[in-house]
Amino acid sequence: GCTANDVAVALRVAAETVAEHSAELTDLDRPIGDGDHGENLKRGFEALVASLDNAVPETPAAVLKVAATTLISKVGGAAGPLYGTAFLRAATAVGQSTELDAATIAAALNAGLDGVVARGKAEVGDATMVDALKPAVEAAQAAKKDGVAAMLSAAADAADEGANSTKPLVARKGRASYLGQRSIGHLDPGARSTALLLRAFAEAAR
Ligand code: ADP
Ligand code: MG
Ligand code: MG
Repeated sequence: GCTANDVAVALRVAAETVAEHSAELTDLDRPIGDGDHGENLKRGFEALVASLDNAVPETPAAVLKVAATTLISKVGGAAGPLYGTAFLRAATAVGQSTELDAATIAAALNAGLDGVVARGKAEVGDATMVDALKPAVEAAQAAKKDGVAAMLSAAADAADEGANSTKPLVARKGRASYLGQRSIGHLDPGARSTALLLRAFAEAAR
């Protein structure tokens, strides 16, 4: 099963991925937003790693809650509260268990998606992180019988495909929506970062 320490390791891998792709995410945000998505996430995940260096909480839920509060307070913009809400809902979904199995992780991903949708009101096709997260959650549900590593790898594949699907779309939520038709032809930065985070979690579970 996946312990508190395993969750912390997955978040550390995510932080490395975010740092490696920070310039790419900011470049995606520049033409259709305000060019800060990579910097926002990098700042938040650096703060999260600093917190985990200081102490790893006892349960998976408590680790996810630290991620939520740190991302909400440090990332800012639209993505901070959205990712923060996702981790907060995931924390609630896993309860007090000390080890998470694939079914519980699938339920946590689903709860995270529900949180993002409750907060941001985006649907698939609006060119947001939901376009990556929703197919990932569905893939995870379908693959949870195959174990954590295979499930997360299937989720990451679906998220990549979902992120790529945002390119021809008109953005209907967030700053990119201010551009209307001119948002067509641009990959959504938040969809890309969601796909990167899920790939990092899959790598950590291998
Ligand atoms: P800001 O736009 O405030 O600068 P970021 O650049 O950090 O924030 O994040 C932008 C990303 O947030 C977008 O690419 C999109 O994926 C996501 N986003 C914005 N608004 C919403 C929303 N209402 N629902 C879901 N995702 C959203
Ligand atoms: Mg931005
Ligand atoms: Mg901004």
